[in-house]
Amino acid sequence: MLIVGTDETAVEADLIGGRIGCPDCEVGLRPWGHGVEREVRLLGHIERRRLRRSMCRSCATTHVLLPEDTLLRRRDGAEVIGTALRERAEGKSHRRIASDLGRAPSTVQGWLQAFAARAVALREHFVRWAHALDPGFDRRSVGGSDFFDAVDAIGVLGIVAVRRFGPRPVWSLASFLTGGRLLYNTSWHFHPPL
Ligand SMILES: [Zn+2]
Repeated sequence: MLIVGTDETAVEADLIGGRIGCPDCEVGLRPWGHGVEREVRLLGHIERRRLRRSMCRSCATTHVLLPEDTLLRRRDGAEVIGTALRERAEGKSHRRIASDLGRAPSTVQGWLQAFAARAVALREHFVRWAHALDPGFDRRSVGGSDFFDAVDAIGVLGIVAVRRFGPRPVWSLASFLTGGRLLYNTSWHFHPPL
């Protein structure tokens, strides 16, 4: 699995041109069919998508290309889940968030619990990214909880990253920088920007 941009045409051109590198050996990937069509629930609308599959030209490993506006193994988009995380950090109950977003309370609770379980590691990850993108940037979080601090670190990173990457939805960036695993109980490697 590999996180890619949301511009399908650009991703396809990069894939055909061998400009998307294999995560294992960095050789260019090539097209390798599509996954099954599935529903992706974004803010305000639903899309049906078939994820692009690819194969490494060297090691023949297959990789699914996941657009950065989604997270690994979640039906809801990164901005939907990010909105829930931000509102929780602001003190809203999970039931209120679920009602406002039109999602089941248990679904929202699942997102919040998964994020809370990794909040300290997530905060560290995004603070490191913020410093990597702007070494002069220094802001100490003044939050009262690990959850709040982690959400705050993502917000700070979003501000810093605009200068490097240009405008980009902050939760898509958070998905990109965790390899789609923002809510996934696994470790990831920190790669400073090129
Ligand atoms: Zn490879």
